Amino acid sequence: MKELPRFVEKFIYFLECHIKSPIFGCKMCGQCVLHQTMFVCPMRCPKGLRDGPCGGASAQGKCERYPDRDCIWVLIYRRAKRQGKLEQLKSFKPVLDHRLVGTSSWANLLTGKIDVHGKSLLDAAPQPKVEPTKSKPQPQP
Ligand code: SF4
Repeated sequence: MKELPRFVEKFIYFLECHIKSPIFGCKMCGQCVLHQTMFVCPMRCPKGLRDGPCGGASAQGKCERYPDRDCIWVLIYRRAKRQGKLEQLKSFKPVLDHRLVGTSSWANLLTGKIDVHGKSLLDAAPQPKVEPTKSKPQPQP
């Protein structure tokens, strides 16, 4: 896991926030899954559900918390259906690691804190070094 200079990290955060917030309503969760949710940010869900709707959405597809709004997962489903990508919704999205909330997912990807699927690697065990095997000298007959 690499570290970026603080000012570089702050600059990347600034860029990501100012680009993604107005376009996608990004909440800077630090573990972006936009590319897996048809570019509809699941963090716009008031419950922050990243892996599908809760049981409270109405039969008309409205949010339980804000009944005047469509459920985010209904929007994701509709877009996936339009694009013929419903299969893509069947894969599990990585759970949110709250230690990364409020950070830049671009910086986290660069430093290896998350993988390309948005999965936190903070607790990933360091890979053991593999030493090249030395051949033993064979005993002479
Ligand atoms: S998934 Fe996270 S990083 Fe991606 S747009 Fe939504 S809040 Fe922002």
